[in-house]
Amino acid sequence: MIALEKLTKVYGQGPSAVTVLDNLDFSVAAGEIFAVVGPSGAGKSTLAQCVNLLERPTSGSVVVNGENLSSLSEEKLRIARRRIGTIFQSDGLFSRRTAAANVALPLSYLGVTARESKKRVAELLDRVGLTSRSNYYPHELSGGQRQRVGIARALALRPTILLADEATSGLDPESTTSITTLLKELRDDLGLSILFITHEMETVLKVADSVARLDHGHIVESGRVVDLLRDA
Ligand code: ADP
Ligand code: ADP
Repeated sequence: MIALEKLTKVYGQGPSAVTVLDNLDFSVAAGEIFAVVGPSGAGKSTLAQCVNLLERPTSGSVVVNGENLSSLSEEKLRIARRRIGTIFQSDGLFSRRTAAANVALPLSYLGVTARESKKRVAELLDRVGLTSRSNYYPHELSGGQRQRVGIARALALRPTILLADEATSGLDPESTTSITTLLKELRDDLGLSILFITHEMETVLKVADSVARLDHGHIVESGRVVDLLRDA
């Protein structure tokens, strides 16, 4: 599980300081999809970078399975980052590598043997339903398929947390559904904690168990999605 505890991010200093995230407090349990939804400028990208451990919070912490990651040294942070898989709006695949080679990349950095890597890549592509596309290049795949390769790559190091940063923005409705369906399978089968950051409320209603509305760096409302739908 992942918890944010009084997470605050301030850019700049003195009179020009801007508080972009103000005391965020929430947690995402194992086997839960938690959405953060907000308009442009709300602080979503900054939140993603703090959860990603690419930005350090000004104060407060990011806690994964009970361990405060915000206070780790750079060296330990690099290792801790493996526990968090990220999928981005742009799939970020290498265009001159096949789907399988893209998924294998994080494993090659860790020195996993070729044999083990091959096995793991095959499992991962099977999990995202792309076994038959293993040797295709990104330009030979649809947007939804490319995003699923991105998910397989994010899972390669067996993270416990999956961070989806505008992961369905820009996809057509059909591809969006293929991604939301897959995320729910991963939630259920692997017990991942999934943090789904987006500006699209419609997608939140389809995918999330819980949702927090972010505006100007504050959580202005949060609750279970079933309750939102019932009250609508
Ligand atoms: P969103 O992703 O929801 O559009 P961002 O996290 O990109 O929001 O930005 C939230 C606010 O923080 C904006 O007002 C933006 O101008 C400001 N901001 C983001 N990054 C920086 C930075 N490096 N320095 C100063 N202000 C920033
Ligand atoms: P095992 O101990 O055999 O790996 P698990 O039940 O933990 O069994 O996992 C079942 C399958 O799911 C295995 O193929 C494993 O590689 C894969 N798997 C488990 N957890 C994750 C994860 N967080 N990310 C990606 N794949 C995973």
